[in-house]
Amino acid sequence: MRRLLAIAAGSVADAVYPPRCAGPRCGRRGTWLCPACDAALPRFAPPWCARCGASEGVAPCRCADLPPALRRVRSAAPYDGWLREAIPVFKYHDEWARAGHLGEVLATTLDTLGPTDALVPVPLHPRRERRRGYNQATLLARRVGDLTGLPVTEALRRLRDTPQQVGLEATARRTNVVGAFGPREGVSVAGLRLVLVDDVLTTSATLGACAEALATAGAAEVNAVTLAR
Ligand SMILES: [Zn+2]
Ligand SMILES: [Zn+2]
Repeated sequence: MRRLLAIAAGSVADAVYPPRCAGPRCGRRGTWLCPACDAALPRFAPPWCARCGASEGVAPCRCADLPPALRRVRSAAPYDGWLREAIPVFKYHDEWARAGHLGEVLATTLDTLGPTDALVPVPLHPRRERRRGYNQATLLARRVGDLTGLPVTEALRRLRDTPQQVGLEATARRTNVVGAFGPREGVSVAGLRLVLVDDVLTTSATLGACAEALATAGAAEVNAVTLAR
């Protein structure tokens, strides 16, 4: 039944937002990503840095940025090519139907993180989520959850509506999110191995602050996955 509903929801989404390739200057219809645009953007793959998941020749190691609470990070690909087009339309221009395809791409990044108990989307401030109509990280986490069978727990809440990280310097980004996240009342993460889910890793300030909040709440281990970095 759930599968039927998902198929029905998929058809409605396809009717409202007909798939088109996100590739720069492509826009091919009937697909979210055509093989040529897919092949044009290299994905992170082993051999890579075991902690931050950066592969040689694709992007530099980011371990120096990561706080101790964040054990390992995996991203699908650099913020470039088709992903650089797909993420903004998904996030800011109401193209939520793209979550199905983007979630499939993101699900592949979990393979090398080891045993996981639950996925935790990076929360938006409620005011911003109301304005946007959805939290892109929650849509991604739900899709990854459907594909992997992992539960999604909205264990964090945003305590402050911080200014957008876009356009801020690294130090300002870290200061911006200090104390911005806290545990959601009534949701226990004690002893759990968690994977944070977000769309983009920039300075890791946001993911770091989330990981620290989860560790303080008793999580056994916190890893993170993002589509792009
Ligand atoms: Zn294309
Ligand atoms: Zn590294």
